Amino acid sequence: MSKISKVVPGSMVDGYVVCPFDSVHRLLPSRLTVHLIRCARNFPSAKMVRCPFNNTHVHSVADMTTHVGTCPNRSTMVHFMNPEQLPPMEPRASNFCIESTEDWDAEPPAPTYNPQTHCEKNFIIINPQGNGPAARREFRARERIRFMENDKF
Ligand SMILES: [Zn+2]
Ligand SMILES: [Zn+2]
Repeated sequence: MSKISKVVPGSMVDGYVVCPFDSVHRLLPSRLTVHLIRCARNFPSAKMVRCPFNNTHVHSVADMTTHVGTCPNRSTMVHFMNPEQLPPMEPRASNFCIESTEDWDAEPPAPTYNPQTHCEKNFIIINPQGNGPAARREFRARERIRFMENDKF
């Protein structure tokens, strides 16, 4: 029963990943990236290549040719490469950056004490605690407009 079944490098055995350089090495998936960098130095002659979809997939050139066709990470990569499927994250993020910079510039400096603000503060205390975030947001929006208006005078 001690016959060792052939392990496929890079495959999972009992929750451990088999090192593609030496099938004796068994690693926690979280340690794989660090181990592969170290282990690659110990096997400089190994003609191993990294998977374009996941750099923890290391195979021989021959195996990689078949691996890229079956790589589990391939679908996500194809998903991101499809322009129609691209999430509008990037343009939206940059727009947000520009907007926020402008907002910060336009924003008046820290408001100084004035009777109006004092009234608004009292208003918060009088306001019942049960107010939802929408009501508080509305209050803050009104307060901001008030500050902006005060800044003009
Ligand atoms: Zn190794
Ligand atoms: Zn892969």
